[in-house]
Amino acid sequence: MASIDEKLVSLRHEFHRDPELGFQEVRTKAKVAAYLKDLGLEVHEGVGVVGVLRMGNGNRSIGIRADMDALPIHETSTHDYVSKTPGVMHACGHDGHTTMLLGAAEKLSVSRDFDGTVVFLFQPNEEHGLGSQAMIDEGVLAQFPIDEVYAIHNLPGAPVGQISTRVGQICSSESLFEITINGKGGHASMPQVGVDTITVGAEMVLALQTIVARKMAPGAGVVVSITEFLTDGQRNVLPGQTILKGDVRARLPEDRNDLERFMRQISNGIAAAHGVDVSMSFDTQFIETINAQDPTDAVARVSKSMGLDTISDRPPMSFSEDFAHFSAAVPGCFLLLGNGEEGPNGQPLHAADYDFNDDLLTIGSNFWAALVRDRLPLRQDKE
Ligand SMILES: [Zn+2]
Ligand SMILES: [Zn+2]
Repeated sequence: MASIDEKLVSLRHEFHRDPELGFQEVRTKAKVAAYLKDLGLEVHEGVGVVGVLRMGNGNRSIGIRADMDALPIHETSTHDYVSKTPGVMHACGHDGHTTMLLGAAEKLSVSRDFDGTVVFLFQPNEEHGLGSQAMIDEGVLAQFPIDEVYAIHNLPGAPVGQISTRVGQICSSESLFEITINGKGGHASMPQVGVDTITVGAEMVLALQTIVARKMAPGAGVVVSITEFLTDGQRNVLPGQTILKGDVRARLPEDRNDLERFMRQISNGIAAAHGVDVSMSFDTQFIETINAQDPTDAVARVSKSMGLDTISDRPPMSFSEDFAHFSAAVPGCFLLLGNGEEGPNGQPLHAADYDFNDDLLTIGSNFWAALVRDRLPLRQDKE
C-alpha cells in the first residue's frame, strides 16, 4: 500500500493549495469525482459527490462522510502547498478528511475484501451547516440507502492517531435567535409620551439568563448568549424599536425545544407587562450530533484492533457538526482523530497557521477500510 499512501500526501497538498468556500467547491468536487471514476466506482455528482463501491452480494450498506469546504481565513503558513487563494484556506482539515476517504475508496477497491455496499459521501458546505441537508434533500439517502453512517473530524491538541468518541450526544446544536420589540419612539425628556423599548429589552436580557440558571437541569450543557443589543434611539431620542440577537447551544433536541419555549414565554410575558409588541425568530443552524450504540461500539473495536489509542467515552465537544443531519437519518458515529500537539498540527481548528497532519492520511484511510471490513464482513460460508 506504500504507493497509495505516498499519493495521498501529494493529493492532500493539492486540495490544500486550492481551497474553495462552502457551495463553491467546483474544482474540489471535480477532482473527487475524477478520482472515484478512475477507481471504477459508480459516481453521482449533485450538490456533493457520491461514490458507490459494491462487492459480493451482501445487502448491507454503510455510508462514510467527508467534508470538502474551506474557510474565509487568510493562511499565514509558508510551506510549499500554502493556499493560492488569498483569504481562503483549509483551516479545519477538510482537505485531509476528503483525502482520507478517497484513500479508503482506493484501498478497498484494490483489496476487495468485504461483502456489501460502501457509499462514500463527499459533502459541501459543512462550515455553515447546510451541505448534508442539501444532499439529503436532493435524495441521496433515498437513491443510495445506507444502514449506518460514519464521519471523522481531526482534533488538534490530541495525540496523533488517537481515536475518541462516545455513545449519545457528541456535538451541540447551534440556534440563532432574534427578538424584535416594537414600542413608540419619543423625546428623551418626555418618556410618558412614547413607549420606550430599551428598558424592556434590558429586562429581557437579564430574564433570559434565568432559563439556564433556574429552568434547565444543572449540567445540561445549554447556553443562552445575547450577543447584540440594537436600537433606533439617539442621544436624546428614546428608541421605538429594540432588537436582541444571540446564540443558543444545546446537547439534546428536547432541551433545545424547551429553551425556545421558555424564551418565547419570557419575551412575550415581559412585552405584555409593558404594553409593547414582540416577535421572536429561532433558527437552528446545526442540530445535535447523536452517536448510536452499535456504530460507536464498532468504531472503538476497530480502533483497538488496529492498536490505536482509543477513548470510547470522551466528553462531548462544544462545537457543532453538520454530519448531525446524516446521523439523525440513520444510526451513525462521529469520531475524533488526534491531529497532534506540536506546531501547525497542534494549532486550534480555524487558526490561520493550522495544518492537517499528513500522518493521518494513512491512519485514517486504513481505519475506514478496517471499519468497512468489520461492518460488511466477507461471508464465512462461501460456496
Ligand atoms: Zn470548521
Ligand atoms: Zn471541520
